[in-house]
Amino acid sequence: MHDHSQNLSPDEKNALIQRWQTVKQQITDRNPDVQLLAVSKTKSADMIATLAYMGQQHFGENYVQEAVEKIQALSYLHLDWHYIGHIQRNKTKDLAEHFSWVHGVDRLIIAERLNEQRPAYLPKLNVCIQINIDDEDTKSGCSPDELPMLIDKISQLPNLRLRGLMIIPAKNSETAFIKTKQLFDKSQEYHHKPTDWDTLSMGMSGDIEQAIDAGATIVRVGTAIFGERT
Ligand SMILES: *Cc1c(COP(=O)(O)O)cnc(C)c1O
Repeated sequence: MHDHSQNLSPDEKNALIQRWQTVKQQITDRNPDVQLLAVSKTKSADMIATLAYMGQQHFGENYVQEAVEKIQALSYLHLDWHYIGHIQRNKTKDLAEHFSWVHGVDRLIIAERLNEQRPAYLPKLNVCIQINIDDEDTKSGCSPDELPMLIDKISQLPNLRLRGLMIIPAKNSETAFIKTKQLFDKSQEYHHKPTDWDTLSMGMSGDIEQAIDAGATIVRVGTAIFGERT
């Protein structure tokens, strides 16, 4: 399933670079301050390295084992790795040791474990709180009611830097981005270091522009850059 070790042909490389440049341009045209997170789950180390040489610094991964293999294979590139998948309690140590960002924190116990397991030789781990903004049964994320408590507690953990909110909206959700931006703005007061509260992680291949218009600061884009996943 994973094609980690396959090498790209020159044509495939060019096509990849072109798709990446198109997405970069689409973002820049909308708001040049928005950061592009290239979501490389299931994609090869060779693809990641190709974009890294073009200047892409931030990559997003969903599967811990697969991610750790790629992170180790590409350590010479000094990339910033973001974990954007569902967080299992027994995997927090791998996240704390290998990533610079974890987007989907939705329970205090997860934040506490990440804080305890973050190695002292690394900078603070950047985290976002995931909200289940459309109140879906199947989705991870805390409810908006829990936010004040979570921000208060997590922003006091010394080895974490609490940066903001992350969402995965329901299909056809019209209001998720706007509601999240409003929650983001009114929740800063609960943060013990309010200037750290600067990130809204939302928007994927299908809705980059709507997300940016609503105030996203990081868009997470996989398919539009790397092509369909098998
Ligand atoms: C896979 C994934 C993405 C990227 O989705 P695309 O539609 O391929 O751009 C973004 N965010 C999360 C949480 C994902 O799991």
